[in-house]
Amino acid sequence: MPSYAEVILPLAVKSNFHYRILPSQQDQLAPGMRVLVNFGRSRIYTGMVRRLTDTLEEGIVGENLKAIDEVLDEEPMLSEEHLKLMDWVAFYYCCTPGEVFKTAIPTGLKPESALRVEMTQDLIWEDLQLDDKEYMLLEALSIQPVLTLPEVAKIWDISTIRPRLKNMESRGLIRTYQEVEEKYSPKTKTYLRLAPDAQSDQALEAAFDALERAPSQLDLFMRVVQAYYQDKLLPQTETLKELGQGAGTAKALVDKGLIVREEVKVDRLELYGYEHEPQTLELNADQQRALGEIREKLAESLKPVLLHGITGSGKTFLYIELIREALERGEQALYLLPEITLTKQIVDRVRAAFGEKVGIYHSRFNDAERVEIWQKVRRGEYQVVVGVRSAMFLPFPKLGAIMVDEEHDSSFKQHEPAPRYNARDVAVYYGLLRKIPVILGSATPSFETYRNAELGKYHKVVLEKRAVEATLPQIEILDLRGLRKEKKFDGIFSKRLIEAINDTLARDEQVILFQNRRGYSPYLICENCGHTPQCINCDISLTFHKERQHLRCHYCGHTDFNVNKCPECGHYALKRGGIGTERIAEAIKELFPDRVVERMDMDTTRGKSSYQHLISRFEAGQIDILVGTQMVSKGLDFENVTLVGVILADQLLTFPDFRAYERSYQLLTQVSGRAGRSTKQGHVFIQSYMPDNVVLTSLQSPFQKFYEREVREREQVSYPPFTRIMRIEFRHKDRAFILQESVRLDRILRPLFGGTLLGPDFALVARVRNQYRMQFMIKLGKGLDPASLRRALQDAFDQYYQEAPVKSLRIVVDVDPV
Ligand code: ADP
Ligand code: ZN
Repeated sequence: MPSYAEVILPLAVKSNFHYRILPSQQDQLAPGMRVLVNFGRSRIYTGMVRRLTDTLEEGIVGENLKAIDEVLDEEPMLSEEHLKLMDWVAFYYCCTPGEVFKTAIPTGLKPESALRVEMTQDLIWEDLQLDDKEYMLLEALSIQPVLTLPEVAKIWDISTIRPRLKNMESRGLIRTYQEVEEKYSPKTKTYLRLAPDAQSDQALEAAFDALERAPSQLDLFMRVVQAYYQDKLLPQTETLKELGQGAGTAKALVDKGLIVREEVKVDRLELYGYEHEPQTLELNADQQRALGEIREKLAESLKPVLLHGITGSGKTFLYIELIREALERGEQALYLLPEITLTKQIVDRVRAAFGEKVGIYHSRFNDAERVEIWQKVRRGEYQVVVGVRSAMFLPFPKLGAIMVDEEHDSSFKQHEPAPRYNARDVAVYYGLLRKIPVILGSATPSFETYRNAELGKYHKVVLEKRAVEATLPQIEILDLRGLRKEKKFDGIFSKRLIEAINDTLARDEQVILFQNRRGYSPYLICENCGHTPQCINCDISLTFHKERQHLRCHYCGHTDFNVNKCPECGHYALKRGGIGTERIAEAIKELFPDRVVERMDMDTTRGKSSYQHLISRFEAGQIDILVGTQMVSKGLDFENVTLVGVILADQLLTFPDFRAYERSYQLLTQVSGRAGRSTKQGHVFIQSYMPDNVVLTSLQSPFQKFYEREVREREQVSYPPFTRIMRIEFRHKDRAFILQESVRLDRILRPLFGGTLLGPDFALVARVRNQYRMQFMIKLGKGLDPASLRRALQDAFDQYYQEAPVKSLRIVVDVDPV
C-alpha cells in the first residue's frame, strides 16, 4: 500500500497536495474517497483523494507531510473516469483541480470541520497527567464546552491535530463526534383524517352536537367526514384556505380528538409541478429514419452525433428512444438542457416515459436537494437525469448516453466562477472517454458543432419536417422605417402587428411578444442636459422599472429611487428611453383592456414556482398575451399560440460581438418556433429598422445557407470555428493601476503569443461592481500544443505575480468564451 495520497483541495491552489496515510488508514483508502485534511495553519477541509503514491516530488520529505485526518468514505465516491473528467476540465479550462472539485460536488458533501470536540463528563482534569497541549485544550473546553476542529487547531497552533485528539479520546479525556450536517429531510405535506375513535355513528353524532356552537370547526369537521366516506385524505393547507380558516380550527379539532393529522411524504418533483402520466407515442416515419441513421452511424464509429432538426421536428422523442436503449443495456442516461425551469414540458415527457427513474438537477435546488440527487445517481436509483450544465458532474456509475438538447445555447457555458466550462464540450469529451454516444441536438447548431459535422468529426442526422401535420410559421419582417410619419407606428407596435394580434385574439388563439430587455425602459435621458443616469458601481446605464419606481443596474443590482430629477443638472427632465418588457406589457394592456396580459422575465419569475405557475396558466388558456424576454423563446410548446411578435430585433443584430448574427439567428428561430405548433397556421412578425439585414432575410431559408455565408466571414478574420479563442481578463478597482499593469502583462505575454495576442482593451462594460476589467484575446490556431500553452501561460502569470506589487491584479482565463 502506498504511503502518500495526492489530495484535491476545494481551493484555488495551483496543484494537489500530498498527505501522509496513517497505518490505520492503509487498507481503506482509495482514489475518489473524501478525506478531512488540514491545510494552512488551522483550516480543515474536505479533500478528494486523486491518487495514491509512494513517490514524492523532489525536495519533499515524506515525514514532514501532514497526515490525513480522517477518511470520510467507505468506498470511493467518484470513479477513476470521473476523476479524469475533472482533471481534463481543470486542464482544458486553465483552472485548478480545486476549483473543479468545488463546482462539481455539492457543498453538503464537503463538510468543513464537521467534527466537534467536548470534554468527557465529570472529568477532574486538574489531577491528570497531561502535557501542555492537552492541558490547554481541556482548559479551553472548561470555558467553552464544544470546540470545532479549526478552534482546536488554533489553540494548539500545530497542523496535525487528529492523532492527538484520538489519543486523548482513547484515554477517556475527551469525546469527539461529527456534528450532524444539515441532513436531507423529505418534504411532507399535512393531511387531515377522521380520528379512529370518532368513526362510529354514535361518536359522529356526539361530535356534531358538540360542535354546534363552533361553526367554523363544524365546517371543517364536515369536510373531514365527507372525505372519510369518500376514502380520501384532506390536504390541510388547501382545505383551510378554501374555508377561509386558520390553522387554529384544525388544531381545535385535533385537541378534541376528532381528527388526526397525517404527514405524507411528497415527491419533490410533484412539488415542483412535474407530472408524469404515461404517454405512448409512435415515432413518425421521419423520426424512425433518423433514429435508424443515428444507430447505424454510431455502430460504424463512435463519434458525437449532431441531430439537426428544425423546431418542432420531434427531437425530444428521439432522445427518449436513445435513453430507453441505454436503460435496456442496464446503463444510465443524462439529458442536458440549457435551463430547466424553462422546459417543464420536456421534463414531463421524460417523466412520462421513465417515471420514478428520472431525477432532475437544476440551479434552483438547494444544497440538501442536490446531495439527495447526487446520492441517488450514485446508487443507481436514478437511471435518467434531466439536468442543467452542472449535472455533467453527477457521479453516474454506469453512464451509457448523453443527450445535449439545444446544444448551441450559451447557458451551457459557466461564466463565473471557474471552471468556466461548456457542458456541451465536457459531454463530448466524456463521451469519448467512456466510449458512449453523445447526441447534440439543435435547430440552429453552433457554428463550432456544425463545422465539426461538416468536417466529419461528428456524425450528422437531419430532421427537416415538423413532427405533427403543421406548416412552418410564416415569418414577416416589418420595416419600421418611415412608419412613424405615416402614423402606422406608435413607438412600440406597428399597425400591422396590432392588427395581427387583434385577429389572433379574435380567433381565441394566443400571442407571444418578445423583447430581450426587461424593465420598463433600458435607460433614462435628461431632456435638459442629455445625461443618462449610470450605476455608481458599473459603467452601464440604469434600467427604469416602473412598477417598483426605481432605477436598477442589471449587472450589480444597485437601485436608485431618483427617477425624475437629473442627477447631473438637477432638472426634472428625465425621459424614458428604449423599450423593455414592462413597457410592452403596459402598452398592450391599454390596447386590449379586456385581455389577460402577463409578463415573463427574470423580474416576474423570481419565486421557486412562479415560472411554473405562469406556464400552467398560459397552457390552460388563462393568459391571452405573454410578453417576455428570451425566457419565452425556450421550450414552450403550446398548440394555441399562433402569433409571435418580435418588438425590435435590432439590438440583437447590432450587439458588438462577432457571434451577434449567429446568436440572433438562433434566438429568432427559436422564438419563431413557438408559433403554430399544431395544425393551425402560425405567424411571426419581426419589427426592425434594418429589414434587409442578412439574419432577417435568412430566417426562412435553410440554416445551411446562413451558415455558409457567415462562416466565410469568420474564416477571413480567423475567428471560431476556425480558431479557438482564449480570453485573459484582469480586474482591479483602480483604473490607473490596471492600465499600468496592462502594459506589464503585455510585455510578458507578447513574446509567447506574438501576433495572435489581441488587446489589451477594456471589456464591453469596463467596470462592474467597482472592478475595472481589461482583456487580451488570444487566437489559438493550429500547431499550439495545449499542454505547453498552459505551461507557458502559467509561467507568465507566475512571472507577473513575482514582479508585481502587493495590490496585483486578479487574472481570469476564459477558454472558448461565448
Ligand atoms: P423539437 O424538440 O424538435 O422542437 P418536440 O420534440 O418538442 O420538437 O416535438 C414537437 C411537437 O411534436 C410536440 O408537441 C410533440 O408532442 C409532437 N410530436 C413529436 N413527435 C411526435 C410523433 N411521433 N407523433 C405525434 N406527435 C409528435
Ligand atoms: Zn451596477
